[in-house]
Amino acid sequence: MTSFIERWIRADVRRLSPYHVPEASGLIKLDAMENPYSWPPSLVDEWLKCLRDVSLNRYPDSSARGLKSRLRATMGIPDQSDIILGNGSDELIQIIIMALAGDETTVLAPEPTFVMYRLITSFARVEYVGVPLDPKWFRLDMAAMREQIRRHQPAVIFLAYPNNPTGNLWSQEDIEEIISLTPGLVVVDEAYAPFAASSVMDWLGHYQNLLIMRTMSKMGLAGLRLGWLMGPAEWLVEFDKLRLPYNINVLTQVSADFALRHKKVFDLQADQLRTDRQRLIGSLNGMRGVEAFPSDANFVFFRTPAGRADGIFTAIKQQGVLIKNLSSHSLLKDCLRVTVGKPEENERFLQALASAL
Ligand code: PMP
Repeated sequence: MTSFIERWIRADVRRLSPYHVPEASGLIKLDAMENPYSWPPSLVDEWLKCLRDVSLNRYPDSSARGLKSRLRATMGIPDQSDIILGNGSDELIQIIIMALAGDETTVLAPEPTFVMYRLITSFARVEYVGVPLDPKWFRLDMAAMREQIRRHQPAVIFLAYPNNPTGNLWSQEDIEEIISLTPGLVVVDEAYAPFAASSVMDWLGHYQNLLIMRTMSKMGLAGLRLGWLMGPAEWLVEFDKLRLPYNINVLTQVSADFALRHKKVFDLQADQLRTDRQRLIGSLNGMRGVEAFPSDANFVFFRTPAGRADGIFTAIKQQGVLIKNLSSHSLLKDCLRVTVGKPEENERFLQALASAL
């Protein structure tokens, strides 16, 4: 058996480890930026009624026309922009990289950022250039960005706006400069838009090489797996050729359409999470030795006293709360990230942290 694997599975694939999702049963789950709120029972009943009419024996509408027009209407997508849908934004990142991959291609992103940009780039055997953020405030290091763009002439630059795991927005002047400097595409990933003070959606139509990506995951539907990419039709027509024909299943199409008709519910949940985020930041900054950074997302990125992040992470977990330990990254020593949960979950986390400290 080993000889088959060694002969046929790519050596770089054999060296990979599977994407690790930590076991969370029995724990308060504040590690993955999920919305903690479920739907009111009346809404669940209404949704189940919609599902009764779904024909599971038929393939889904391959181009999901109904869902796309609902997205256009509810998400303020400009008429001149086209849309393609992915099984989560992860699939869209994969499609973009597949379409651009070539022997000389480079994908560039600031680091640290969302790990899938780098991982998917490596799956496609494409070169990835991570440009370190400024280590104090985690802003874009524009001198380094200019230099690396000039040197590598990247086919695509991914900018998570706000950034994961640091939670901050980039300066819009910096993004504009990057769009104008780069020979290739800039994908602004607005996964955390429901919690952010600003967006660049109204730039669509002004730049030939700008695409914007969003997802339903953070607004409260991580289980549905639906992301969408917006921008000039010329790019999206090419990407659409690589999309598997039925990538958005019927249950997702119907459920996402239903959810968008009730978007107000999610908007109210996002309002609540934004208020609770500010409380959480205030409480963290009131703890000795802890520094919480400003956040435009549904999580808080914070620094703990030197050399103690691993121990603090473990002690919090032993008290029943799962957060994310970032401290193995060279720029993120001593740093942890917590998703904003329900008020009582945030309280449990704060108590666990206080006792760990
Ligand atoms: N973009 C960013 C910046 C993220 O942090 C994440 C998930 N953590 C995603 C995209 C993934 O979104 P999806 O669930 O739609 O694949």
